[in-house]
Amino acid sequence: MEKSRLLYDLHTHTVYSHGKGSIRDNYETAKKMGLSEIGIADHGPDHALYGVKAKDFLRMRREIDLINEERGEGDPKLLLGVEANIINPDGSMDLASEFADGFDFIIAGYHFGTMGNAPIKALGTHMASLLYNMTGWSTERIKNRNSSLVINAVYANRITLLSHPGAKGAVDIEAIARACAERGTLLEINNKHGYLTVEGIRRAAKYDVEFIIGSDAHSPSDVGRCSSALGRAAEAGLDPERIVNLRGGY
Ligand SMILES: [Zn+2]
Ligand SMILES: [Zn+2]
Repeated sequence: MEKSRLLYDLHTHTVYSHGKGSIRDNYETAKKMGLSEIGIADHGPDHALYGVKAKDFLRMRREIDLINEERGEGDPKLLLGVEANIINPDGSMDLASEFADGFDFIIAGYHFGTMGNAPIKALGTHMASLLYNMTGWSTERIKNRNSSLVINAVYANRITLLSHPGAKGAVDIEAIARACAERGTLLEINNKHGYLTVEGIRRAAKYDVEFIIGSDAHSPSDVGRCSSALGRAAEAGLDPERIVNLRGGY
């Protein structure tokens, strides 16, 4: 197996949400690809279809700690994260509060399938986003409202990275990049979804923000993959030094 162009990959899914492989399967691929760290980031509990049940985070933590204990020299470190859902107007997220300290890192993203603590507003947001996805139609008001949801979450939580910014709904990527720069939150160039887009990367890069590539692997064979993300970053002319987990230049 070819060595990954990534130093590490934080964004991978397992059967605990809707991925195809186990934690150990993702870990074994990471080992073969020569990654230094591999993160498991299944969906937050509020996601109606894929959310991890709060009690399962404990099981995941134990499984991960055990694998780490048997690590050999040069083997990757296994980390437990979560892909929490951005939907609440006050910026709060579904971090399984009784377990929140048990995560090694936090990913935050906007997804359909989560209603949060203001379901009527959430429904309006999802409808507008679905329409945007189907037709490209949106308004400044909708864009600003979506951006505020993200920015409020960035300020209300310690978020390591924002997953696929701009996917699934219209956003003001410059306003989001500004907030992320201030909070030290990374913007993800997601390998699976087309976001950030080339244009999104260009706009975000005007601010003092750093980027990270995530495979968003839903199957173990996709762990550490990054060719689509790399292609977009290169096309956007992004300085490769600004991608925190890239091994060498383009
Ligand atoms: Zn996602
Ligand atoms: Zn994901």
